[in-house]
Amino acid sequence: MRRKNRADLFAEAVARRNFDEMPILELGIDPQLHLSRNDVAQPFFLICEHDCVIAQMSGTARIEFRAASVNYFDLVLGDFVYVPGGTPHRLVPSSTSVHLRYKADDPGLEAVAWFSPATGREISRVVWDCATELPQEAYLRACTSFNATPSLRTCRASGEVLPPIDLTPFNWQAVAQEIRAAEVSERERAARRGLSFEVKPRDDRTFCPPPTHTEPLRTNVYDFVRSATTQLNPLFPYLGPGCIVPCSAMHDPDFRGAMGYFLHENTQQEVNVCFGARSSFRAPGQVFVGPLHHGVGNKPSPDDIDLDKHGVGERPGNGDRADMIAIAVITQRQAIDTPQREAVSIVCEKCDTQLHRHPYDAHAFPDAIETDDPVLLGLPTISQDAWMFEQVNRDPSMRTCKSCGHVNPKFPMQYWGWADYRRRTHVAVQARKTMADAAPSSSVSRSREKMTLAQQGSDEGSRQ
Ligand SMILES: [Zn+2]
Repeated sequence: MRRKNRADLFAEAVARRNFDEMPILELGIDPQLHLSRNDVAQPFFLICEHDCVIAQMSGTARIEFRAASVNYFDLVLGDFVYVPGGTPHRLVPSSTSVHLRYKADDPGLEAVAWFSPATGREISRVVWDCATELPQEAYLRACTSFNATPSLRTCRASGEVLPPIDLTPFNWQAVAQEIRAAEVSERERAARRGLSFEVKPRDDRTFCPPPTHTEPLRTNVYDFVRSATTQLNPLFPYLGPGCIVPCSAMHDPDFRGAMGYFLHENTQQEVNVCFGARSSFRAPGQVFVGPLHHGVGNKPSPDDIDLDKHGVGERPGNGDRADMIAIAVITQRQAIDTPQREAVSIVCEKCDTQLHRHPYDAHAFPDAIETDDPVLLGLPTISQDAWMFEQVNRDPSMRTCKSCGHVNPKFPMQYWGWADYRRRTHVAVQARKTMADAAPSSSVSRSREKMTLAQQGSDEGSRQ
């Protein structure tokens, strides 16, 4: 299989089988997508050093956890599950399921483990380094030695012996060969572009999950988008270093009006998967990864601009029809130990000259706010975009082209909902503060504070 940054995941899934975990995107795309079509239970618990996210693309399944704050989630179409680094987890399909796993491009260490069904205790585990061994090679190696070695199957506490694993539903040897062959051509292609994706093998076997404390979470994308007030709304409140951040976008131009057009620069890649579409150039199950510097929205053609004499921005584009709807999940992986920067800019709709560019730190909120809690701050990108476009819409000189003199129309904020998100972030932070201040425990501590001050006052008075 040739790896590519534009693919139909349902078409690719036809050739996939149980826990293939086939990487789909080109080498170096982070997060990478791994595809499986599962109809038997995963024969072990998988442990990934880094966080991963699993999406239920079809069918129904249960995901079980060990050593976690939840035991399991039952999964239906559109469910996204956040699996924190270091958490043992296993998929058990109840009907044939297409599963998509979002995972670090450099996954570091991984392991499989077996637990006693009676006591829940870990019986054995096999660890590998993804720099030297493919997961599929390791699955096969681990299961083969599990079957051949009774001690790996025997619970030391209870003496219970787990049965050997039937390996006939799995195709890991052939899958590994396919991945190795694809990686050779990927590395040759990268070398021609002067790039290298070599990963140094580790000399330790100690799991170092990302520095974010997280518990497993589940969100259904169709339930989520209904109440999401902005485009690019993060599905999970996990936005720290190493986090995988799936964000929803709902396209409904007939209701929301024109999209407008802007340019976005990001140090992190954006993996865009369509979770349903009608009358659109997008199709259900399609994935694409664009360049780090890309256009967003509908770029109007010169004819559109002339037709739109009132400047209301009613402009078709991109081959979508009037009754177009689409839901997309756009996912990036947060940088670890490297600066994460973005920029948004607008260009003149007549001559493409840059009108304004706003670069920012991806973790910084655009204006003063009384919190540094990353969960409360949400995804600062959204508030940064809102801040920039509000400025540009207030000030016609920022929309006037220095090359051709054209006064560009205001940017259609309504379509994107960013201003709502920024405003609601401020309201949530301020309301939370009034709640924390009003709670009885703080009143007690405040009255204690007053008592202490009164005490100090009388002490000082007695000294006089
Ligand atoms: Zn111009």
